[in-house]
Amino acid sequence: MSRTLRVRQSQTVLPFGVGAVFDIQGESFVATGIGDWPAKAKQRIESPRLASRLGVSGFYAAPATANDRFDVPDAPGAPYIRFPSWLFCGACRRMKRWRIADEKPGQPPRCPSCSPARTLAPMRFVQICQAGHLGDVDWWFWAHSRRDAGERRRCGEREKLRFLVSERASGLEALSVACTAKDCGATRDLLDILGTHGMRCSGRNPWQRRSEEVECNRPVQVVQRTAGNLYYPITHSALDIPETDVPAYADDEVAAQVREHDLWVSLCRVAGTPRAAVFQTMIQEDTGADDALLEALLAEETGQAPAASADAPTGPARPDLSREEWAAFTAPAPPATRDFALRETTLGLAGETADPWASLGRRFGRIVLADRLREVRALSGFTRVSPDATVVPADTARRLKWLPAVEVFGEGIFLTLNRTELTTWEDDEDVRKHVAGMRADLDRSFQKDRLETLTGSELAPRFVLLHTLAHLLIRQLSFESGYTTASLRERIYARSEQDQYGILVYTAAGDAEGTLGGLVRQGEPPRLVETLLRMTEAAAWCSADPLCAEHTGQGFGNLNRAACHACALLPETSCETGNTLLDRALVVGGEHVPGYLESVVTAGRAAAAGALEQA
Ligand SMILES: [Zn+2]
Ligand SMILES: [Zn+2]
Ligand SMILES: [Zn+2]
Ligand SMILES: [Zn+2]
Ligand SMILES: [Zn+2]
Repeated sequence: MSRTLRVRQSQTVLPFGVGAVFDIQGESFVATGIGDWPAKAKQRIESPRLASRLGVSGFYAAPATANDRFDVPDAPGAPYIRFPSWLFCGACRRMKRWRIADEKPGQPPRCPSCSPARTLAPMRFVQICQAGHLGDVDWWFWAHSRRDAGERRRCGEREKLRFLVSERASGLEALSVACTAKDCGATRDLLDILGTHGMRCSGRNPWQRRSEEVECNRPVQVVQRTAGNLYYPITHSALDIPETDVPAYADDEVAAQVREHDLWVSLCRVAGTPRAAVFQTMIQEDTGADDALLEALLAEETGQAPAASADAPTGPARPDLSREEWAAFTAPAPPATRDFALRETTLGLAGETADPWASLGRRFGRIVLADRLREVRALSGFTRVSPDATVVPADTARRLKWLPAVEVFGEGIFLTLNRTELTTWEDDEDVRKHVAGMRADLDRSFQKDRLETLTGSELAPRFVLLHTLAHLLIRQLSFESGYTTASLRERIYARSEQDQYGILVYTAAGDAEGTLGGLVRQGEPPRLVETLLRMTEAAAWCSADPLCAEHTGQGFGNLNRAACHACALLPETSCETGNTLLDRALVVGGEHVPGYLESVVTAGRAAAAGALEQA
């Protein structure tokens, strides 16, 4: 029976982007570099703003078709190849190294020894290294690894292996790889397979040609092929915003200071060389200009981006795209294009004096509904082993100037806090002390650089507050409107040096039809205010309390405080920070810290108690 394997177009950036290993119907594949994409039929994706910030010529999406490229060489679609190539038969336990010549169109790999032929299963373990390489485990070496070099040399066969299961043991100890070559009989169980073993790195990824192989001396790590550290994609996302109405940089005064700086001319002269970094740092120290502003000014002046420091990873950095988006959402008359349609609304609380409504109304600012949004998501590369390891670019041969991307359409709710109320709260000594602790944990984290592109140069209370609010709102909306949390996403606009203080919660479904208006309806009065009230009430309590509420560091890198799976975390795809930098206490108040919405909680409880008394 023939079978068709499908990867949807929207999945070709995430989760099945270049370098990802994934299972389809019991078979395992790796998505290849974009150098192997079909030359024709790929679709151009427009996002000039993202392209210029990433320094690439543009974006292409894999054609949206049934995708079985491995079996049919010239089929359109994002290509992937079988990986790992070591497979085994569940019946006779024979292991087989599957080669491209062994593939039969529309057929899964079958055991050559069994009759009727059994489908072969992929081996569960693969090897990776810090340089981003991926390869099969050298199973022959593993089976013979308990023997000395002389004995190993006497075994004449490299591929006569069996993958055995013992009933006398359990777990990995029950599994072993045995050599069935004549007079050999070498064998080793898999008890110690995970970790590093002094095995050699292949120096490439499975789709790369031998000519692209490099000498790699990094220690290889054996991991399960589904392990979380096998693949860290580096993605970038930009909303389509009208080009013209938005100033390229909000801070004209700082821009002028940069241009008048004594070293500005020198910087422009050496832009693109390692020497630029010194000038750049000095100008930034004097003017307070952030990387994004300096980059924009330099690009304007010289047509090129400033030089990255010599040891920076290859591939584009993560540019800050929030500045223009924030400006577009907060513009007095929101600009409109076909793919960016905004309308301002309110919570509907004008003239309200009764609490908790009045109290809530005072704490929020602008509410903007986006009836239509277009988002472009691009993949520039990936790392393995850890997020800060060497970046492998999406084009492993480094010849192409474009990146793989997809476009998605949707709708969203944008809201800001009341700027005065926020500033007052942020100036509170206890709030500052509380967040200083989180900042110290962030400084120790290997994710510091990546997270700082989102938080701004210094983690401010408003970031943790707005981020937690976004999570709570998404969770509440999913209870009330039937959206799954995974179908909603956040964008946090909370860089205090850019005077941002809002969030966007949006849904982006995939195709050009967009979504059906269900989310923006939830943002219209009086729905949103009721949602926010119930959200605040729910946030005051977690089923893991008091443990959760009192936590001084939980989650990845201890970067969360009162926030766990039961109360605040979201699916990975919904969150910009990988579920870090969250704390309910900053929203509803904690033992040592006042919450921004604490008075709403208190007023809500008083109102409920009053209603009970009257009843
Ligand atoms: Zn078999
Ligand atoms: Zn042997
Ligand atoms: Zn390597
Ligand atoms: Zn919790
Ligand atoms: Zn998040």
